[in-house]
Amino acid sequence: MKDSFGREITYLRVSVTQRCNLNCVYCGKSDCAKKETELSPDTIEKLVRAFAKCGINKIRITGGEPLVRSDICEIAGRIRTVEGVETLALTTNGVYLAQYARELKSAGLDSVNISLDSTDGSTYRHLTGADVLKKVLEGIDAAERAGISPVKINTVLMKGVNSDGADDLVNLAKDRRIDVRFIELMPFSDNGEDSSLIVTGDEILREFPFLKPVESEESTAKYYSAEGFKGRVGLISPITHKFCSSCNRIRLLSDGRVKPCLGYETAYDILQFIDDENKLLEEVKNIILKKPAGHSFGNENAGHGLNRTGG
Ligand code: SAM
Repeated sequence: MKDSFGREITYLRVSVTQRCNLNCVYCGKSDCAKKETELSPDTIEKLVRAFAKCGINKIRITGGEPLVRSDICEIAGRIRTVEGVETLALTTNGVYLAQYARELKSAGLDSVNISLDSTDGSTYRHLTGADVLKKVLEGIDAAERAGISPVKINTVLMKGVNSDGADDLVNLAKDRRIDVRFIELMPFSDNGEDSSLIVTGDEILREFPFLKPVESEESTAKYYSAEGFKGRVGLISPITHKFCSSCNRIRLLSDGRVKPCLGYETAYDILQFIDDENKLLEEVKNIILKKPAGHSFGNENAGHGLNRTGG
């Protein structure tokens, strides 16, 4: 269905947990990462069913870190069987991906985005607080082997922190059939508030002038490639090139609230309607209609934040 600004809302991000096994420097911290508040696979399926009836056809499982849930494959399988869901994607830090990739593929997972901010072991450890780069790289290999496609890498570059590793990440797109997407740092944490750390999409293009634009199916990322590249480089620039006017997504948080825009704290509880299908549908429609025109980054009074309730 269309929101009140005429945008067709087709994409739901489902956060299945606030918990995370990493501690990334730029990530908004949640103060209530409790397992007890997580939705059961059955509840997630019921809620997704209601969203699908309102026109959602793409679901992305996210978190926190979704793969810390031992029932993640059941969750994926249940979402995939919901009528109207055409694409099931996952965003993960990749640490546990090697152990789950095949089962997730069997459960119906189509594609995966893996967060990787550096291919250098000590920089990775500094950024995430964990010495697990090898496991993430194994996770990327396992996803490809399992036939999950596409496999994309998400990277947040920060000046003077990991920006000197951009070459190695771009080379991943050169050597492998993998899209490497650079996301501009958003203001979700103390580090995120420091805009001098942001590496903009335009700066990346200046650093890699051989990258030329290519056709893209996505509204959020602009894609580039070059002679001899097997994959593409994507630029996601929510700060310098707002894409709110084509934003087609809403978010189900891990505690059952729905957030129409990442840029605002506002979220609506729909769990209270779980046993009344008509009411649930009505509420989902109301929330879609409340989606604001654009995010609030840059407006310090707006109260924004991506915390672990729902990346
Ligand atoms: N744990 C999973 C992961 O690491 O991919 C899923 C949740 S994580 C919050 C989802 C994505 O948000 C990651 O790709 C991460 O890099 C990105 N992200 C987190 N904080 C960010 C920030 N301040 N600015 C830009 N992207 C951010």
